[in-house]
Amino acid sequence: STGEEEKIDYVYKVVVIGDSAVGKSQILSRFTKNEFCFDSKSTIGVEFQTRTVSINSKLIKAQIWDTAGQERYRAVTSAYYRGALGAMLVYDITKRQTFDHVARWVEELRAHADSSIVIMLIGNKSDLGDQRAVPTEDAVEFAENQGLYFSETSALSGDNVDTAFLKLLEEIYGVAS
Ligand code: GDP
Ligand code: MG
Repeated sequence: STGEEEKIDYVYKVVVIGDSAVGKSQILSRFTKNEFCFDSKSTIGVEFQTRTVSINSKLIKAQIWDTAGQERYRAVTSAYYRGALGAMLVYDITKRQTFDHVARWVEELRAHADSSIVIMLIGNKSDLGDQRAVPTEDAVEFAENQGLYFSETSALSGDNVDTAFLKLLEEIYGVAS
């Protein structure tokens, strides 16, 4: 309803980035709709999804942008990053290469996004622990060195997805308000 819109205190733009097939779109749909789509096609036409949460008695609308198949290195345009207060940088814990590319994605953020952007590194597909190719400690160390927050999630089970987004939004609230 329009009444609900009027109560929004802040709108925070958050971008989701990372290599193709790491689960970016599924994380987004888990957080905004509590859904996991088993035969998901690449997102076409949908630029962002929203979810409104309450932080410190303020209503915050997270406007979360999906790359929609633009994940090739440097294909994401600076318009995508413009105005973003937060970033979810996702890799797949079962695919080492997607973690090795995280440093490039951080460079992209440093080049195109606001310097105060809050970044959460996400190791997704934690439900596939038996296929793990990236030790948690490697990611913790990288995140500490780069000043990023870090969480492992499963868009499939929903594990840690809300927690990671809420942490990101709380940190943005701390920076932006
Ligand atoms: P994107 O290209 O980064 O947007 O990745 P998608 O969200 O389209 O997901 C890529 C593939 O990984 C799809 O087959 C998903 O079903 C699968 N996937 C995404 N998240 C998870 C997860 O947490 N666990 C498992 N097991 N599979 C996942
Ligand atoms: Mg996608």
